[in-house]
Amino acid sequence: MCHEAHGALLRCLELAHESFLAGGLPVGSVITDGHGQRVGEGRNRAYDPAGGSDRLQRTPIAHAEMNALAAVSTGTDLDGMALWSSHRPCLMCAAACQFTGVSRVIFIAPDPSADDSGEDPAGIETEWVVVANLLFLSGVAAYSGPSAPMILRARQREPEITGLMQAVGDRALRQAALRDCLAPAWPAVRAAARERRQRLAQAPSPGPSALRSTGPAE
Ligand SMILES: [Zn+2]
Repeated sequence: MCHEAHGALLRCLELAHESFLAGGLPVGSVITDGHGQRVGEGRNRAYDPAGGSDRLQRTPIAHAEMNALAAVSTGTDLDGMALWSSHRPCLMCAAACQFTGVSRVIFIAPDPSADDSGEDPAGIETEWVVVANLLFLSGVAAYSGPSAPMILRARQREPEITGLMQAVGDRALRQAALRDCLAPAWPAVRAAARERRQRLAQAPSPGPSALRSTGPAE
C-alpha cells in the first residue's frame, strides 16, 4: 500500500500529481543524498501556463529532472547521490545527470511519449508503474484530449492503464493530495497492475532492465 513505498518514490509521484493539477505534464523528480535525505526536487513545468517564479517554466527544457538539478547549488558534490524520476529520463536529462556527476538514476516507469518506451525498471512494484503512467496519461488527455495520438498509442501499449484511466476518471485525480486520490482507487490500481504483470509475463520480450540506469531508452 502507499505507506510502504520509498519516500523519494512517493515524492516523485506527488510532484507529478502537482503538475497534473497545474495543467502540465505529470513528471516529478527528487535528488537524495547517501542517507536518503532529499536535497532537491522538481517537476515538469514545460507545459504549465506561462508565468510563475520558475525561470524555466513554459520553456522546452523545464523537465522534472532539470528542475531537480537546478535546485542544487553549483559545487554540490553529487557523487553518492541518486536522482529519482517518475519516468525514464529523456536524452537531455540523462546527459545532465551524467554531466553533473549524479551517481545513480532511478526511474519508476517507462516514458509513454517515447517511440520505444523500453522495459520496466527492476525493483519497482508494478503498482507504482501503473500510478506513474495513470498520472502521466491523464495529464496528456487533459491537455491534448482523450483522442491525442499518445493516448491512442497507449491503448495498444498500456491497455491496463488506459482502462484504469476510464475507471478512475479525471475528476478523482483532482483532489489536492495524491494520497486522497489513490486510496479509493487502490483496488483498481492493484487489479490493473496484476493484469499488466500477466500480460508482460506472456509477452515474448526480454526481462526487466536494471534498476540502476543512466541511459535513456529513446
Ligand atoms: Zn527530460
